[in-house]
Amino acid sequence: MKRGKAAKGSTLVIVDGDDTLWETTHLYRNAKDAISHLIESAGLEGAEWRTAQEAINVALTERMRLSSRQFPESCVRAYLRMCRNRQITPDPQLQATILEEARRVFTTPVRIAPATVRALRELGKSAKIVLLTKGDLAVQVQRLEEAGLSDLLDSIYIIRSEKSKESFEALLHAYGARAEDSWSIGNSLPSDIAPAAAAGLQCIHLAGSATWAYENRPALVTSSARIRSVGSFSDAVSLVLRERELQSSSPRTGNEGLA
Ligand SMILES: [Mg+2]
Repeated sequence: MKRGKAAKGSTLVIVDGDDTLWETTHLYRNAKDAISHLIESAGLEGAEWRTAQEAINVALTERMRLSSRQFPESCVRAYLRMCRNRQITPDPQLQATILEEARRVFTTPVRIAPATVRALRELGKSAKIVLLTKGDLAVQVQRLEEAGLSDLLDSIYIIRSEKSKESFEALLHAYGARAEDSWSIGNSLPSDIAPAAAAGLQCIHLAGSATWAYENRPALVTSSARIRSVGSFSDAVSLVLRERELQSSSPRTGNEGLA
């Protein structure tokens, strides 16, 4: 999905959605806590269910590509695997309740920090802001509406495939932006930082944002692009604005030490 409005400025800032602009980690944590409790009430090991669920969820990613059915399916499959290993018959009622708890992740409104909204508004005065997020189209659209961010973004791209060097290059091309004047901000090293760095963008990693096992897969950052780490989205925006100010107040040849 793509939506655009009038472009402005020469700086392009590409931002991630989940756990960058809005928080989702607590939704998954709450669902897993609730299901783990249900599993234990049935006399099974909650910790064993968690380990199985995480492994199954990562394994399903390639085929289900973060569809909103993936997480609920991984939760149910983990329970069924435990039953199979113990040679016990699954309880259909428990199975239905697990599904219901897991689906809450996609029906509970996401939270957005007021500081994030203020930072986007400030950044939007002098830069083009593009959201590049992967995941289920309907879920991501719903989250955007809940977060009320649409008017603060120049364009919105929701993709089902992995973000790649080519995804970032395509956006640079679409905006006629130079890689060295462009930024990527996100919480995932393999998804938001490594491919953007490979495309030559400047990168800011939200290192403090918890994520799930799949986003903790090894990230090979092959480029010499400078990657900064900050604790929040508003800190990332302050950094972009500060660097732009430094660049515009110093001669072009003096910029090499900053990039
Ligand atoms: Mg993310």
